[in-house]
Amino acid sequence: MFGCACYLLSTESGSWEEGRGDCSKKGAHLVVIDSFEEQKFLSNFTKNATYAWIGLTDEAEEGTWKWINEAPLSLKYWQESQPDNGGGHGNLGEEDCAHIKMTEGKSSQNWNDLLCSNSLRWICEKIL
Ligand code: CA
Ligand code: CA
Repeated sequence: MFGCACYLLSTESGSWEEGRGDCSKKGAHLVVIDSFEEQKFLSNFTKNATYAWIGLTDEAEEGTWKWINEAPLSLKYWQESQPDNGGGHGNLGEEDCAHIKMTEGKSSQNWNDLLCSNSLRWICEKIL
């Protein structure tokens, strides 16, 4: 619990789309990070370094990142030199989905864009 929302870090892994579907089934949505307190809370959520999908994508328009609740991307915590859309080594495809690298003690510059079909855990958020 943090503020007026509940958060769930999935135990399973899957694509960004699978994460979105699972959160939706739970009456929640992939997490939307809109304050530094929230960013800090989530970054330190686990002791073990964990990659987890967040509700941020540029699938609709390359380079235009949008939260799944349509909120504008005001606060950004991209890792240095990210998002890179795959950095041009992309015979695999474009990187259109964002994840956070949860690491205890590091609360900023920990987002990266990744191929949406990669298998990661995800964070659901339910506003109460
Ligand atoms: Ca992209
Ligand atoms: Ca990237």
